[in-house]
Amino acid sequence: MKNQELVDYLVSCGVCTICQLRYLRARGTEYNDINQSFQRLGVKVPENQLRMDETNGISTDEQPFKKPRLSHCSTCLGIFSEDFQRELIEGIIASDFSKYDSEGIVLAITMPMSLQLRQLSMWFALQRKFGPTVHSNSPPDVPIKEAVKLILHPIICKKLDKKYDANGLMISIDLRHTVEEPEVDKLVELNRVAFPGKTLKRIEISRGLLEKQYQPSRVKAETYEKYLPIPPPAVEESLTLKSIDLQGPMVCVAGRYRKLSRELSHTPWLLQGVRQMEDSIEEIIIRSVGPHFTETVTKITFMSSGREDVDVRCLGKGRPFVLEIPNSRHSSLTKEQALAMEQAVDKSCKVSILNLQVVPREQAMHIKTGEEQKRKYYRALCALKEPATLEILQKLQIPESFDIQQKTPIRVLHRRPLHTRPRTIYSVKARLQRGNPLVLVIDIVTQAGTYIKELVHGEFGRTTPSFSSIIGKPIDIQALDVVGIDLDWPPEVDNSVSQ
Ligand SMILES: [Zn+2]
Repeated sequence: MKNQELVDYLVSCGVCTICQLRYLRARGTEYNDINQSFQRLGVKVPENQLRMDETNGISTDEQPFKKPRLSHCSTCLGIFSEDFQRELIEGIIASDFSKYDSEGIVLAITMPMSLQLRQLSMWFALQRKFGPTVHSNSPPDVPIKEAVKLILHPIICKKLDKKYDANGLMISIDLRHTVEEPEVDKLVELNRVAFPGKTLKRIEISRGLLEKQYQPSRVKAETYEKYLPIPPPAVEESLTLKSIDLQGPMVCVAGRYRKLSRELSHTPWLLQGVRQMEDSIEEIIIRSVGPHFTETVTKITFMSSGREDVDVRCLGKGRPFVLEIPNSRHSSLTKEQALAMEQAVDKSCKVSILNLQVVPREQAMHIKTGEEQKRKYYRALCALKEPATLEILQKLQIPESFDIQQKTPIRVLHRRPLHTRPRTIYSVKARLQRGNPLVLVIDIVTQAGTYIKELVHGEFGRTTPSFSSIIGKPIDIQALDVVGIDLDWPPEVDNSVSQ
């Protein structure tokens, strides 16, 4: 089969120039300059054929007028025509596209099944026309899906002035054509005959099944032709855009928070569906940061490097946190915007945030890695039943590390399994609170996951040793602050200093 014969035949079947190149197995940039590619492939395309693909209707030719184009390509239904490209671009621009500032886009185009059926039909047609030079196992063309990537994607990116990026704004385009329904109905009938015993309902006919089962090696042309024509006929109606859906990229915003209140839960605290506290750290932060990025703030995930109890404050440099924001419209944050968000959170007087910044998605993992190995720094206010002695103070100066065995505290047994866990205490340093011999201020460095309240009072011997067992006297905890978390991330940024 010569290239010229192939093209002449395709032209007679109403196949567009792009699809002709597909059947000539053109690759990559060969679709950019159609004339040049035809020349290189030794094909002379009839004049009127090239003009037929023009869409502006203006011809510099001497011919007095040009026949308007009446039909669309029989194999691609016009998906590669300039008219359709224009419609696609206009459709995208008319969507919420401009609300997203993502520099990259990724396209997901769902095509009518008719397109696949028509490739098969043309495959049969070429076999009939050119005999065994056309294989039964490998398609004679560059698949439409691949050609769409090669041709349409770069054009759309260029027109929209965006880069192609798999992590960018996802534009999902659903295309329909009026021939799809009758053709798929026929396919269901055909399927009963071609693959008896595997009766499928219409809904079960999938693109995957078409790709896998519908090849000349598995279905006979004679059977196919009883239901659908060979070669595929050109169509008069064009493809239509059923819908364009936009899904912004996942953006991660990190920072550190300080918890200033002893009456604030980490996340919304519900008991049997009833709210126990009016607010939470998660809600205060999301309320101030979320709306800039998305309309659906309920989809935001809040993560932090550990957490503290309701009545525990977190001071010092604060605790690292990350917000995972799906379908985000913005992928960056200026220092001014970040500062405004930090100030909005600070206004709550319960939480304060700093170092707020957009971080690469891969880095968001930092927050959970090595959590067990991390050191935690606490300051505990502890009460004795009788005034502190020098001996008590000396016993609670422990510069070297020691291990404790800690049973799951009774207060968390309803949500954690009962285990005895070994935990390392790295150092203990107690001093008297000024003016009150009954109160000690104790700085403690522990392995993450240590229950501090139980470390202090021992919980009836469920934690051993405990401060109580070490000094041989009862001691209880009155207040606890987290003063440092051993995670040097995210990087420090001062949003109050302009760039
Ligand atoms: Zn075509």
